[in-house]
Amino acid sequence: MSESSSMNRRELLTCLGAGAAVSLVPWRKTQAAGTPCLVLDPYAGIDWAQVGRHKAALHLHTLQSDGYQMVEEVVRAYRRADFSILSITDHDWNRPNARILWKQLPPEKASPYPKEPYPENYPANPTWPWTDYGCPSPEELGMIGIEGSELTFRHHINSFFSNYGVWYERTGSRAPYGGIVDAEGNEVWEDDQLEDIRAKNGLAFLNHPGVEDKHAWWERKPLQWYVERYHKHPADCLVGIEVTNCARAFRAYDEGLWDQLLARFMPQRPIWGFGTDDMHDLASTRQTYTTFLLDHPTSESVRQAMIAGRFHFCASTVGINYRVEEPQMLDFPQLLSVQADPAQGTIAIRADNCGEVRWISAPESLEPTEDFRTSNAPWPQGRVVHVGDTLDFRKTPGIGSYVRAELVRKEGNHFHRTFTNPFGFVLG
Ligand SMILES: [Zn+2]
Ligand SMILES: [Zn+2]
Repeated sequence: MSESSSMNRRELLTCLGAGAAVSLVPWRKTQAAGTPCLVLDPYAGIDWAQVGRHKAALHLHTLQSDGYQMVEEVVRAYRRADFSILSITDHDWNRPNARILWKQLPPEKASPYPKEPYPENYPANPTWPWTDYGCPSPEELGMIGIEGSELTFRHHINSFFSNYGVWYERTGSRAPYGGIVDAEGNEVWEDDQLEDIRAKNGLAFLNHPGVEDKHAWWERKPLQWYVERYHKHPADCLVGIEVTNCARAFRAYDEGLWDQLLARFMPQRPIWGFGTDDMHDLASTRQTYTTFLLDHPTSESVRQAMIAGRFHFCASTVGINYRVEEPQMLDFPQLLSVQADPAQGTIAIRADNCGEVRWISAPESLEPTEDFRTSNAPWPQGRVVHVGDTLDFRKTPGIGSYVRAELVRKEGNHFHRTFTNPFGFVLG
């Protein structure tokens, strides 16, 4: 693509003012406007022949909270499956060995970690560094390890690059169902957690919004709740949302929510999509992960890519057992390159193992159609505006403030999909 004619994200945010006020844009208004002009391309400037592709698992549990395996077993299993970036994100609310406490594993399976002296912020500490949990360091294994934690007392939030986590002992018997309070007895809400993560220079995304969990102490949130969070918290900390989590049945819920948010926030405030398997048991999980596009594989470059959207993710309905020596990894549709040409008005994808490329833009309606608490598809999903390798965005009807692509391959009853992050447009 021609770099001179397209703005990169930093230029765009400078131009619009980072954290610029974002208002709800009614669909009719976006439809009535003129020709789409590409202003945000998360893949701008990538040299596709050279760039490193790094498989990342950003949502993993171990015996240090309610997972079933030791840290070392988890790390080695993912390494065997060719992952190079891992974040162990144990729940901040569990003490180690929850499955033994709940009699789902025998006592001899217990993890002896952490050893005394206990880490700062125990028991809400991240499982980090790995070497404190009987595992070689990421460097020794040729991997990138990211300090992380799953904040669990309210809407689940994955926190990265800091040791933030909340413990509830002070809250007494009301917790966790009754929420949490800080040392002064003040309630701690999602906004407080996100502000604290930002103060620690961390990054975050919101987890599995559609999860249906009858005993959960967070409740499904209305669309407006998400709009408020992404409005309130800047894109250089709250970088996105889990669009696929275990590739479970909430597909229409989570993907529809993403499209509803993109329709409201793009291009001013990107909300990047992440895929994670939320692994608790290596023997039984789903294939969904994120692939980073990095010139230099370092922790800092992962961080920059998370902010800039330089990654894509994939999800399949097929499960996997990571405990075996040679896990049956899928050949997902592979994104070889995505080249935007703002002057020509096109975005072109080259792909392998791909049945078709679908281009998806804003939903037809921004109104909820069913009750979000009881329906798994309460919002209209984004609509397919084109099928084919190249999108001519000036000539394609229905392009709103963004478009994203899905590379899809069907195999029997299963679908394997690779998702790009969204491209942003202003309508001139
Ligand atoms: Zn969770
Ligand atoms: Zn989790």
